[in-house]
Amino acid sequence: MSLIVQKYGGTSVGSVERIEAVAKKVADFRALGNEVVVVVSAMSGETNRLIGLANNITDSPSPREMDVLVSTGEQVTIALLAMALEKIGCPARSYTGAQVRILTDKSHTKARIEDIDVHRMQDDLAAGRVLVVAGFQGTDADGNITTLGRGGSDTTAVALAAALKADECQIYTDVDGVYTTDPRVVESAQRLDQITFEEMLEMASQGSKVLQIRAVEFAGKYKVPLRVLSSFEDGPGTLITLEEDESMEKPVVSGIAFNRDEAKLTIQGIPDTPGVAYRILGPIGEANIEVDVIVQNVSEDGTTALTFTVHRNDMKRAEEKLHEIARDLQAPTVIADADIVKVSLVGVGMRSHAGVASQMFQTLAEHSINIQMITTSEIKITVVIEEKYLELAVRALHTSFGLDVVDQSE
Ligand code: ASP
Ligand code: MG
Repeated sequence: MSLIVQKYGGTSVGSVERIEAVAKKVADFRALGNEVVVVVSAMSGETNRLIGLANNITDSPSPREMDVLVSTGEQVTIALLAMALEKIGCPARSYTGAQVRILTDKSHTKARIEDIDVHRMQDDLAAGRVLVVAGFQGTDADGNITTLGRGGSDTTAVALAAALKADECQIYTDVDGVYTTDPRVVESAQRLDQITFEEMLEMASQGSKVLQIRAVEFAGKYKVPLRVLSSFEDGPGTLITLEEDESMEKPVVSGIAFNRDEAKLTIQGIPDTPGVAYRILGPIGEANIEVDVIVQNVSEDGTTALTFTVHRNDMKRAEEKLHEIARDLQAPTVIADADIVKVSLVGVGMRSHAGVASQMFQTLAEHSINIQMITTSEIKITVVIEEKYLELAVRALHTSFGLDVVDQSE
């Protein structure tokens, strides 16, 4: 008998009919002899609706009350799903985060899980019940309701799987797995049978939004096998594991991620002396602006240029800060450019293969795409290019690295 934690996201429980369809799926799975713990999100759109209500009252609602408010979305779904399960003869019981006792720290709206009490859940499982647990929420040591940040139900599911030592954590969503790249951009993108935690983390942090990043980190840390599957069609999904795919044809590049949410800032003509990078990026960090790719030029005339990317929403603030810094450093120019995208090749196979970077640069050159910045890690190569070339670049790279679906009919 296996113990499986299944998580169903907002669209999967978006209506009463869909909740009943989920109940059927869960009951069938249990009938195969599995023990099942189900984690659910709020019905799709509900969390946003609740946030909207709060914003009609005040621009700065208290984080504590926000958590009391938004946690209701998941409370609705657990009750409805438990009812739907009971209706079809599957014994079930719903639990809020606080009832399980998912203990978190006190950081409202972005709390971290500290401990999970498994006793009640184990008793229910032993009694043959399916457990339906509210995702996204917990309680702090004083009994205040907390939430884990947007998309936090994924993290709840992984944390429960780790605490219960489940055999697998299955994330049911509206896509049938993790793809080599966004199928909306590259039609021939393929579903991956498996991917490593490391690769998934790189894909997620580069903009592939299938899973919450924290959930992947958590699963990697506690070695919880994680599977992404569709709640609407049957299929194996994508397994995220520790092990690398050892098959012979295993491609060097597993996937291509891209991110349109960044902007590029350059400060030129700064004196090339020790401490300038700190004098520039220090205040940016203090302003709570996250910096991603950073490039500093060699100096020829005793001055240098520093270019870095930030989230597009932070561009204006970063630009203003840079102007202040530029005045102090007597640096003549600051340039801000929102017209960029970041494209990354990701693959653990890169560790043992030379020439991936040059193949990437060659492919982009053949399509006359100018590379503005380059950065690499052990399993990732990232370039920054002009936004209008995004589709062209991703498609060309997808083909060049052998990721296109092979058409069997030819
Ligand atoms: N309902 C929450 C959200 O919309 C949590 C989740 O769905 O994972 O962010
Ligand atoms: Mg989600």
